[in-house]
Amino acid sequence: QSFENFKLNSQLLNAIKDIGYTRPTPIQEKAIPLALAGHDILGIAQTGTGKTAAYLLPLLYKTKYARGQHPRALILAPTRELVMQIEADIRNLGKYTDLRFACLYGGLGPKPQIEKLAEGVDIIIATPGRFMDLYKKEVLYTRDIKTMVLDEADKMMDMGFLPQIRSILEIIPVKRQNLLFSATFSDRIEKLSHEFLEFPERVEV
Ligand code: AMP
Repeated sequence: QSFENFKLNSQLLNAIKDIGYTRPTPIQEKAIPLALAGHDILGIAQTGTGKTAAYLLPLLYKTKYARGQHPRALILAPTRELVMQIEADIRNLGKYTDLRFACLYGGLGPKPQIEKLAEGVDIIIATPGRFMDLYKKEVLYTRDIKTMVLDEADKMMDMGFLPQIRSILEIIPVKRQNLLFSATFSDRIEKLSHEFLEFPERVEV
C-alpha cells in the first residue's frame, strides 16, 4: 500500500514525500479511505501509530483552499502541548496548501488569538475550554464548520471536558463530518461516540 493509492491531491502527496513517510501506517491505511469517503470515524489508536496524519490528511484534502473569514474545520485536543504538536503536523502536511490555521489554548491572554481569528482562518486547533471562552466573547463564527475532530478523546473525558464538548456540539452545524480518536475504548467513549458520531466506521490498531 502507498499514499498514491489514496484519493489525495499532489499538494498533500508532495508534502508527504518531503517529510519522508514512505508508506501509510495501519491506522492510516484503514482510516484515510473511509474518512475521504465522508464517513464518521471512531478510531482507537495510541500516540505513535500515526493517528494524527490519519485524520489530518482527509481533513486537509476536504478543506483544500483558504476561503473567506470563517473556520471550516475544528480539531479539539485536551492540552496545549497536543494542540501545538497537531499544529506542527498541519504545518508540515499542509505546506503546499494555502490553508490558514489558529491555535486556541489557555494559559495566556486571549488577545493574540483574537487577532489571529480576525485575519481569517480555515482550521482551528483548540482546547475545549479556550474555544468556548472565545465563542462567548463573540469572536468565533462556528456556522461554517464542516469537519470536527476529537483527538485523545479519552484524555479529554478524564480532564472533565465533556460539558464543554457538549456546548461546542450545540453551536456548530449538525451536518458535518466527525472524527473521534481515542487511545482506549471504554463505556464513556462508547457513550460519547453515540452523542457525537453518526453511523461511524470503527477502525482500530
Ligand atoms: P502520531 O501517532 O500521530 O503521534 O504519530 C507518531 C509519529 O509517527 C510522528 O512522529 C509522525 O510524524 C510519524 N508518522 C506518521 N505517519 C507516518 C508514516 N506513514 N510513516 C512514518 N512515520 C509516520
